[in-house]
Amino acid sequence: MAYTQFIDGELTAGANRESWINYNPANNTPLGEVFQANAQDIEAAVGSAEKAFHDWRTKTGAERGRVLVKAAEILRSRLEQIALLETQDVGKPISESLAVDISSAADALEYFGGIAAGIHGEYVDLKNAFGYTRPEPLGVCAGIGAWNYPIQIAAWKAAPALACGNAMIFKPSELTPVTALELAKAFMEAGAPRGLFNVVQGDGRVGAMLTDHPRIAKISLTGSVATGKKIFAGAASQLKRVTLELGGKSPLIIFEDADLQNAVSAALLANFYTQGEVCSNGTRVFVQRKIYDAFLMQLKERTEKIRVGDPTDPDTHMGAVISTAHLEKIIRFIDAGKAAGATLLTGGSRPGKDFKGRDISSGNFLTPAIFTDCDDAMEICKEEIFGPVLSILCFDTEEEVIERANNSAYGLAAGVFTNDIKRGHRVIHQLQAGTCWINNYNITPIELPFGGYKQSGLGRENSLAAIQYYTQLKSVYVELGNVESPY
Ligand code: NAD
Repeated sequence: MAYTQFIDGELTAGANRESWINYNPANNTPLGEVFQANAQDIEAAVGSAEKAFHDWRTKTGAERGRVLVKAAEILRSRLEQIALLETQDVGKPISESLAVDISSAADALEYFGGIAAGIHGEYVDLKNAFGYTRPEPLGVCAGIGAWNYPIQIAAWKAAPALACGNAMIFKPSELTPVTALELAKAFMEAGAPRGLFNVVQGDGRVGAMLTDHPRIAKISLTGSVATGKKIFAGAASQLKRVTLELGGKSPLIIFEDADLQNAVSAALLANFYTQGEVCSNGTRVFVQRKIYDAFLMQLKERTEKIRVGDPTDPDTHMGAVISTAHLEKIIRFIDAGKAAGATLLTGGSRPGKDFKGRDISSGNFLTPAIFTDCDDAMEICKEEIFGPVLSILCFDTEEEVIERANNSAYGLAAGVFTNDIKRGHRVIHQLQAGTCWINNYNITPIELPFGGYKQSGLGRENSLAAIQYYTQLKSVYVELGNVESPY
């Protein structure tokens, strides 16, 4: 299989001869060859996107919306096929890619397709005059994706961009080149003009070329803080717009009056979904002292029942992490936690067999890990691990836990479990995080904005809030009287 560029409506290897092999994380066997785009390919992608933009921007919102809704239908009709591709590429369980990845991409296309006709400005009554505003598209926008939710990330960027009248060039992560091409095909079949959504493959060098390109108006990144800073700095030289969806080390706070079973369910979802490779994960689980032991007992018991194994098996709960290098990085964090004095309560080892006794020793598998006896200052409690590693921290008072939860350079997400409605809101309102939950965790409906405070990012994706990040506002003053002039 060859994973190529998708430029001007065509799959093309591109002008470059550089390529690499894409591996299945579950067994490290090759899935296919990926072709790195070069400067010539980027020029071709920008040229074709500009051509598409020229016509696309003149279409009505309803016309644009119809294409997006049709693309959503196409994705849904290919749910099983694309879910399998995503599972083989990312290593996540098929039950997840079937239930979440493809449908949340389709949700974004439907949502922004539905509101495209309602994107409009304001009328302002003035003395002997009036004014109005026009939200106009930016032009050619670039999306740069992370590897944990490849098609979802591509759709979360493309849907608002195209609904607002822009064209997009999308670069998936070099580790997951597959399903952005499926999205590109769906757009074409839905009636999008050639070049409206191009895909270029490659590593950070291709991302940097997009960032530096003078005819690309905006960059939207989903990735790490380190990459976000590089893109922000690169974009600054041209005052290019950026949206940055970055990493986190989010707190999940469980008060003693919480429903214990729900709180444990949420802690599991907040740490072990997609092998813990979720940006908004609540990896610092603060538990109030009175329920600490009971919470821990139930958490350990349920964690040990998580079925790690072949991601294509519908009974699997947890698949393989993205690469051997990433697995080794997670194991280094686990070793650092033990060396710092935390207790590894369960997990953190490489299983040789899966829950059905199949040999999985060649894949990047890890059993879900829980650390107790943690301290806020430990590396495992400060740094984003991006793997199935949960740290439990004990607390006594509301004031104390708010201060400790906020003591982080990140601010992506936060969760609070309590049955006291007043406390739930009071605490959430004091947490420095952009995406918050009361009595649940990691639910990200397309209708709500998603994004971070502090170093977790800039701007928002999803919801009506995304519109302002893909448009620029033109103000028009219309005179109804004479021009008053002192000259
Ligand atoms: P990464 O920063 O290594 O790479 C992200 C993307 O940026 C890739 O496509 C990569 O090729 C590209 N890139 C790398 N260097 C670049 C450069 N100099 N210029 C332009 N592009 C460059 O991140 P990753 O390892 O792919 O993903 C994991 C990170 O993504 C984690 O930190 C995670 O929290 C974050 N993430 C955030 C969200 C969110 O919505 N906030 C969602 C998913 C993942």
